[in-house]
Amino acid sequence: MSDEKKYMTDEEAKEAILDIGRRMYLRDFVSSNDGNISVKVSDTELWATPTGVSKGYIKIEQLVKMDMDGNVLEGTAKPSSEIKMHLGVYKEDPTVQAVTHAHPLVATALSIAGISLNKAVNTEAVLSLGNIGVAEYATPGTYEVPDSIASYVKDKNGVMLANHGALTWGDSIYQAFYALESLENCAKSEVLTHYILGKQNYLSDNQVATLMEVREKLGIKKGGIPVYTKENPNPESSDKENQFIEKIARRVADILKEEK
Ligand SMILES: [Zn+2]
Repeated sequence: MSDEKKYMTDEEAKEAILDIGRRMYLRDFVSSNDGNISVKVSDTELWATPTGVSKGYIKIEQLVKMDMDGNVLEGTAKPSSEIKMHLGVYKEDPTVQAVTHAHPLVATALSIAGISLNKAVNTEAVLSLGNIGVAEYATPGTYEVPDSIASYVKDKNGVMLANHGALTWGDSIYQAFYALESLENCAKSEVLTHYILGKQNYLSDNQVATLMEVREKLGIKKGGIPVYTKENPNPESSDKENQFIEKIARRVADILKEEK
């Protein structure tokens, strides 16, 4: 027992996937048959959602058990082609126990605009979610996706998939889903403050450092440090393309405000 990681049993994992699927659907993170969920039950096996099923209405018998190479071990349904990115996450970091993927509206909008969440503006984001970048564009369901997200897995809790949606992971299915909820919340807050209100008070380097100490005490290992702070509101690393995108997004927000 001592050297083993604590995994959910098959039954616990299957019930948890159904539960998280319903929450995903009720929170409007998925439409139609979008999204997928997977949970490891051992070092070499996982349960995953099948293709072509609404996450709000999955039946337990539709779930699929797979090995880490994507071979089906149990279940008759066809696994989602997007399971490749889940397998990619587990390969990059074997300590990850669950992966959730959805298309929450605001995070998806940011992924389309290519806007990362990496400013010191939201204490929750700085403390537990951390920076969320936008991975390079990859065709959904192909092996381009695991390649595009690989560099984010070890240090971050999730990533936005360009022109597509959001992907999060964690030590448990609940942690992975909470990261998805936090990501969407931060995305909403970014749009509201930066693009609608047009004002953001950045946290200072000292405030960020204190939050980092708290993060360490809480045992949160991933997330990274915000790129933009009060002392460094326009770091040189921000490239012209991002500035251009932000200018356009701001202009669109202005037009929308004028039209009201
Ligand atoms: Zn998707």
